[in-house]
Amino acid sequence: MIAAPVASAGALDVERIRADFPLLARRVHGKPLIYLDNANTSQKPASVIEAVDHFYRRTNANVARAVHALGDEATSAFEASRDKLARFINAPSRDEVIFTSGTTQAINLVAYSYALPRLQAGDTILVTQMEHHANIVPWQLVGARTGAKLKVAPITESGELIVERFIELLTPEVKLAAVTHVSNVLGTINPVAQLARECRKRGIPLLVDGSQAAPHLRIDVRALGCDFYALTGHKLFAPTGTGMLWARRAHLDAMPPFFGGGEMIREVRFEGTTFADPPHKFEAGTPNIAGFVGFGAALDYIESIGFERMAAREHELLLHATTAMRSIPGLRIIGEARDKAPVIAFLIDGVHAHDLATLLDHEGIAVRSGHHCAHPLMQFFGVAATLRVSLAFYNTHAEIDAFVAAVQRVRKLLA
Ligand code: PLP
Repeated sequence: MIAAPVASAGALDVERIRADFPLLARRVHGKPLIYLDNANTSQKPASVIEAVDHFYRRTNANVARAVHALGDEATSAFEASRDKLARFINAPSRDEVIFTSGTTQAINLVAYSYALPRLQAGDTILVTQMEHHANIVPWQLVGARTGAKLKVAPITESGELIVERFIELLTPEVKLAAVTHVSNVLGTINPVAQLARECRKRGIPLLVDGSQAAPHLRIDVRALGCDFYALTGHKLFAPTGTGMLWARRAHLDAMPPFFGGGEMIREVRFEGTTFADPPHKFEAGTPNIAGFVGFGAALDYIESIGFERMAAREHELLLHATTAMRSIPGLRIIGEARDKAPVIAFLIDGVHAHDLATLLDHEGIAVRSGHHCAHPLMQFFGVAATLRVSLAFYNTHAEIDAFVAAVQRVRKLLA
């Protein structure tokens, strides 16, 4: 059974909130859009869209290069987002926040800059059965160069990490553990603080993939006690092409740069180059400036609504959707962990996931179908694909009820 919410939704005015998201008012195939694919990417509030628009209309200039007014304004707006992000995750220092294009780039940065120089044949990297490909493939790529191998911590049939097995697998040849905070398929919330404590006792650094956690759980990297935390902006109501790696300063100081180029140097000579301090050492080239200005606006928006109220509302929606979906004959939920984010993967007996998703789309309902970039997890459950409903605080009970009614109708056509 899913755990009860920890806080009340308070007086969240959902209709007013929905009006903040222009796209939610659109129709698809002549029907009002019901957007239930938030784990894929979230919709953007007008304040984020306006911040990006305003940047290009009024400020556009490159960062950290020009002394003119626009360059100064662009740099201030861009760096203000770093301050907001550092506060958002309770980072000890803003300099530990590296801007990336998303979680994928953040994990690759750790793979190539932290892991590659340290790994050798016989070493292992510990992951879990429920990882997204972004937290598997980079480790395989550096493993192929060094001889290091992956080790996989198992999960239960209900989709929970077997924590005792994870701990047993933390043996001396493990040079890094890399774990998702929240599964993008199962919705499972992993006990990251506990895993970090166990890793620390053994001197093993822990990377946390926070892509699916950051929109639903208050992230506090100090309290979690991990070494690296990666997240993506576009699932957090920010523009695509934005993300972050947080890492402990000692790691960042020891890591060589991943990309070389402008903006990341202290001095360049043909004989050799010295590098800027973190975060700039890892941010070569012109970044997605407008995107990060939008990211700052997204964080402002979240704080204006109240993160805890958003999370409480999403939990309430998760309970409502889970109960309603269980009433559909032949529907099987994949992922029944006690601690869950509002992500529900499911299958219906005799119905192909893509067929159902296509028919739902004709009803204006957007759900995801496929392997969700988690082939090993699909293999564990013995399926090729699932459907997935993922909720945001702007979704409504009425939308969930309309989705459940549509599945009931469509199921009869397909079965
Ligand atoms: N990790 C998880 C758990 C995800 O859900 C995703 C995206 O779906 C990623 C990593 C990759 O994020 P991005 O494509 O933004 O880099």
